[in-house]
Amino acid sequence: MNLLVTCEHGGNEVPREYRGLFRGAERALESHRGWDPGALELAERIAEELGVPLVAATVSRLVVDLNRSLSNRAVLSEWTRRLDGAGRTRLMARYYGPHREAVERLVRRLGRRGRAVHIAVHSFTPVLRGARRDADIGLLYDPTRGPERELCGAWRAALGGLRVRMNYPYRGTSDGLTSALRRRHGVRRYAGIELEVNQRLVRGPGWTRVQMAIVGSLRRVRESGAVPPERPCP
Ligand SMILES: [Zn+2]
Repeated sequence: MNLLVTCEHGGNEVPREYRGLFRGAERALESHRGWDPGALELAERIAEELGVPLVAATVSRLVVDLNRSLSNRAVLSEWTRRLDGAGRTRLMARYYGPHREAVERLVRRLGRRGRAVHIAVHSFTPVLRGARRDADIGLLYDPTRGPERELCGAWRAALGGLRVRMNYPYRGTSDGLTSALRRRHGVRRYAGIELEVNQRLVRGPGWTRVQMAIVGSLRRVRESGAVPPERPCP
């Protein structure tokens, strides 16, 4: 399995040049709206333990959301929508383009050796608008893509002990980096999975144990050959 790991919401940094826009926005930046707590730590652990490449960003999603398409209004927030056209172009060139292009290059490179299997690591808030979310882990994928479906089935089985739900709390086909990459890369060259972890676990005492369980499960899935790699192009 030609794995790569990414983290789009790894931090809540606001580059100096945009700090003026975010005066009074500290609470939003600290909250789940500003970043995915725990996601970067987990992404780094997976990459390190499994010896696979990682592309990660720590700019706040309220500055620019790297997991949204340029055509999606939510790529900017109520704070950065105040930028004028030139300001927006500069923001995209500095923080959005480099991340998306680095992932694209890696997918192309790994895809030449077979199928690139992309794990995008995220975390979700345990309570959203009063509704409690009961899963520990969400695996998001496109149900019409066989290798993604098979891989997530095998991964869920390997994650025994954790409450895993498929395409929860979001649909894997919603706008995001994996959806964008699916449009450019066929099923033989690309499989994109979003791993969503409940932030309740991130704040709990067993967080390190949970991370190792996730790493171990992915290692077992990789070794089991549950999803045979496509043969490289001749
Ligand atoms: Zn996220």
